[in-house]
Amino acid sequence: MSFVDLGLSPEVVQAVTDTGYTTPTPIQAQAIPQVLMGRDILGCAQTGTGKTAGFTLPMIDILANGRARARMPRSLILEPTRELAAQVSENFEKYGKYSKLSMALLIGGVAFGDQEKALDRGVDVLIATPGRLLDHFERGRILLNDVKILVIDEADRMLDMGFIPDVEKIVSLLPPLRQTLFFSATMPPEIKRLADAFLQNPKEITV
Ligand code: AMP
Repeated sequence: MSFVDLGLSPEVVQAVTDTGYTTPTPIQAQAIPQVLMGRDILGCAQTGTGKTAGFTLPMIDILANGRARARMPRSLILEPTRELAAQVSENFEKYGKYSKLSMALLIGGVAFGDQEKALDRGVDVLIATPGRLLDHFERGRILLNDVKILVIDEADRMLDMGFIPDVEKIVSLLPPLRQTLFFSATMPPEIKRLADAFLQNPKEITV
């Protein structure tokens, strides 16, 4: 099994090949074709399984042919911490180097000004921590009506950190017709309840 077999575009396959990976990990092999088909995903997977590429690679292909309008991101990746958000953005830059998608990182501890400028230019992929995203929303600097793909990463850590009310608020601002990819290392009842609320007929993947 190679990345070509998963249905990814030549641009994305080349970017992955440049990083030196030759074989998809189990979560990549199972998730990528399903995401490309538009399916929701409930992934029970820890960090280290390659889940980041599992959602970023197909996302790049799905978003390839559209264009973002000012302040209206086309996809949203929610991460519980600044560090994880920054790591995902580094991955995205590597994997998206042959695509023309724009990306912005909205995390706390950074001045609002540059983040606002990036939002105004139009963002295909927005990677954010929940609190900072809501800050921008409340300042009227961002609209979420155009989000086609939502990723909720590390949902159980969101729960541990008390972010679930913020995540629920954000999801309530998104269009109901969207694709949702939900990942958690563990599936306690509170996380299962959220997954049931956010996902439609998801493909369940446990690695
Ligand atoms: P993640 O679970 O997404 O945090 O990824 C864990 C680590 O595995 C990261 O350092 C990735 O760069 C790396 N990785 C992701 N996909 C592959 C792959 N197919 N082959 C080898 N390493 C990979």
